[in-house]
Amino acid sequence: MGCPPSVPPLPDVRRVLCVCAHPDDVDFGAAGTVARWVAAGLDVAYLIVTRGDAGGFDATPREMMPILREAEQRAAAAAVGVKQVDFLDGYADGTLTPTLGLRRDITAAIRRFRPDRVLTNSPLRRWDRLAGPSHPDHLAVGEATTCAIYPDARNPFAFPELAAQGLEPWTVPEVWYMGGPAPDHLVDITDTFDRKLAALRAHATQTSHIDLEPMLRERLAATASEGGLPAGRLAEAFTIIRTA
Ligand SMILES: [Zn+2]
Repeated sequence: MGCPPSVPPLPDVRRVLCVCAHPDDVDFGAAGTVARWVAAGLDVAYLIVTRGDAGGFDATPREMMPILREAEQRAAAAAVGVKQVDFLDGYADGTLTPTLGLRRDITAAIRRFRPDRVLTNSPLRRWDRLAGPSHPDHLAVGEATTCAIYPDARNPFAFPELAAQGLEPWTVPEVWYMGGPAPDHLVDITDTFDRKLAALRAHATQTSHIDLEPMLRERLAATASEGGLPAGRLAEAFTIIRTA
């Protein structure tokens, strides 16, 4: 089964946690939307599962890659106004599976930040775009995050060691998935495109060899026009579900 039609976004959201597999995921998928949320006064935080140590395209020493990519993600976050960027430790780029350990670590982050909305990678594979959105790490983080939202974070008897640390149960009512099949909730990011571009340029180890602006404009304009927005608009697309 693919994704169901999106529900309308909840009106009273104040805190958003973005959980992604790699540095740059949130920026390719959602930086224009995040910039809008920050401008509207929402409190947005990032949780990045790996430091992208398998990324890059040149002879940069491999041991430098996680250090560079963490710094790049922090700069990209600053470009859209996000101040809180946390990384999990112990997860290598390219090796993720939705283990109980990963569910526990994401559950801990949810209980700590107590978001009204979580944005994450889609756990569903796109057969029409296998490369990029359907990287196995993305699918694994989407699945682990979904399991952390339901049932783990809200269940007082899941991972009792977390409650013992003072991390009380928390129910996330709404999830936004990026990169999945047939996303149908469009966010017009024409006005925040420059900030998305700045965020993606901050990921120099991943994007400095790409002619980024025309590629992004073409892709985001196609998303806007497929979703029925007027010519000249740029959009990011998501699937939104409620969890109750
Ligand atoms: Zn990625």
